[in-house]
Amino acid sequence: LPFSALGLVPALAQAAATQGYAQPTPVQAAAIPLLLQGRDLRASAPTGSGKTAAFVLPLLQAWMQTPRQQPRRLHTLVLVPTRELATQVAEQVQALAAGLPEPPRLVRAIGGVSINPQMLALRGGADIVVATPGRALDLVTRHALRPDGLRALVLDEADRLLDLGFADELQLLLRRLPAARQTLLFSATFPPAVQALADGLLRAPAQVEA
Ligand code: AMP
Repeated sequence: LPFSALGLVPALAQAAATQGYAQPTPVQAAAIPLLLQGRDLRASAPTGSGKTAAFVLPLLQAWMQTPRQQPRRLHTLVLVPTRELATQVAEQVQALAAGLPEPPRLVRAIGGVSINPQMLALRGGADIVVATPGRALDLVTRHALRPDGLRALVLDEADRLLDLGFADELQLLLRRLPAARQTLLFSATFPPAVQALADGLLRAPAQVEA
């Protein structure tokens, strides 16, 4: 089944081809059509399964189909546990959006480094932000990141988010996000704490297993 059969617009099916993705991985084949319908998603998917493109492609499409607003509104927030994962996700967003007529504004915001360049980068608005939960909360509290237009929230590697102690900051952040949104939770494992997080966060989620 080619990418174009999953409901992706030609520009995004082409972007996958340009990346050398000959065919969707099983997670992509299962998740992309559901995400294009706007469903919430609970995905059991380890690194290497193609999980990143499984959410990046449909959320880019949702963003492309959302009218631009002035000032620019945050469309997608991706929460990740580590700097490395933030970089990997941001690189895939950039790569898959490179051929679009109007690429999205993407900001990466991780903790442990100065917040000032991140605040500067967020001036004028961002479409997609990839962040660690503590830094995202900090940026929202400072009104540098305005979440009022948020349409999609992704928790990537949710098990590691909890293992690394982000539970409290995550809950504080979640309270500041609009409720009317699409929420996706990816995790390699689903111990009770991750399942509880998913249960509290997802609305009638579709389930996908890698
Ligand atoms: P991930 O599981 O998201 O960390 O992706 C693992 C690697 O697989 C990344 O380097 C992707 O660029 C690559 N990848 C993602 N989707 C595909 C695909 N459909 N075909 C081949 N490689 C892919």
